[in-house]
Amino acid sequence: MSLSLSAEQQAFLREQVRERFLRYVRVHTTSDPDSPSCPSTERQFDLLRMLEAECRELGLKEVELLPEGCLLATLPAGDGEAEPFGLLAHVDTSPDQSGEGVEPRCHENWDGGVIHFPKDPALRLGLEDSPELAQFIGDTVITASGDTLLGADDKAGVAEIMTAMAAFTRWPELPHGEIRICFTTDEEVSRGIEGVPLERLPRACYTMDGGLMGELEDECFDAWQLKARFTGVPVHPGSAKGVLVNASMAAARLLASLPEGESPERTEGREGFYFLHLFRGDAEQAEIRLLLRDFDAEENRRRRAVIEDGVARLRERMPRLQVELEWEHQYANMKEGLRQDPQITERAARAIEDAGVTVLRREIRGGTDGSTLTALGHPTPNIFTGGLMYHSTREWVPLKALCAASETILHLARRWTGAAS
Ligand SMILES: [Zn+2]
Repeated sequence: MSLSLSAEQQAFLREQVRERFLRYVRVHTTSDPDSPSCPSTERQFDLLRMLEAECRELGLKEVELLPEGCLLATLPAGDGEAEPFGLLAHVDTSPDQSGEGVEPRCHENWDGGVIHFPKDPALRLGLEDSPELAQFIGDTVITASGDTLLGADDKAGVAEIMTAMAAFTRWPELPHGEIRICFTTDEEVSRGIEGVPLERLPRACYTMDGGLMGELEDECFDAWQLKARFTGVPVHPGSAKGVLVNASMAAARLLASLPEGESPERTEGREGFYFLHLFRGDAEQAEIRLLLRDFDAEENRRRRAVIEDGVARLRERMPRLQVELEWEHQYANMKEGLRQDPQITERAARAIEDAGVTVLRREIRGGTDGSTLTALGHPTPNIFTGGLMYHSTREWVPLKALCAASETILHLARRWTGAAS
């Protein structure tokens, strides 16, 4: 079996992935961290319903849209024996930036010059902002219009999976076993796997949710969130001596005691951090939310102890201060889970190479649905989608990378059959 696709197949991928991507990003699917419902926003169904219809049109089997916000579909196996695997992508976009009224712009034959945005004249995107752009000079670079994110995270993944399914339908001779696809909601608010019927996923899965072309991620943060609530004793400041217990000052003292070097803005690579992502309060009440991130779970245990010790000292100094700590383990580093079956990640690496792309092994300074799935017994590495500067108005994706990711899926399917050594 030849490793390269025909010119006709390449052209098909290019045309399909572009058309699908440009259409999917226009659907408003922002998730909401403060919503208790599942999925967090009803609008995520708008894209799920559209995909449901398209899966049926493609002739996929067992197409089912679950009320919890999850779309399942199956590409039945072609000829020959092969173990099934799963492909996941999330339909929601990050609440960090508006995702309403996205107007994608295709910069055809991009010459390397600064990209301007019609909806925000002050915004610029050039090689100095995103040096990775250099390898896509001459290609089509897609951005939004300046007032929204683009939504390549993760509609690029969705478009790439749908394009690969369309190719399998069009060319039944492309070798593949059973492929189970699963489009999820609320990944951006760390609830991506809620509502996914795990028993209906094959053991091995892949998320199409990575960044730069070639990236293959098999390691992610170990992640904790702390919600801490401080309750003080308020009193008029003029007669406060010995009476006032200031909740916000107590919270601020705790935060000030954390090591300055262990913050997101001072760390990179494999270094972990504390990240304060919410602080609100007055003299009577204060609330902080801290994220703890590290590749080494032991380091996060140490950070938790630092905070617990700090709170113990506050309680000693201010006996009438009340502090409530609520810890949540958000996800675990998937490295251990993947190490038990290295074939899963290896096949993805070979498939990326088959698509003519250099593999970039990366650790994710974040988490994906795959982190949770791996912890739950479904080893799930993360494959690139091609997009960069996610969650921002300057988010961009090159068409070449969208094609390469779709093609990677075709090779991956072949690697899971006996048709590739
Ligand atoms: Zn994502």
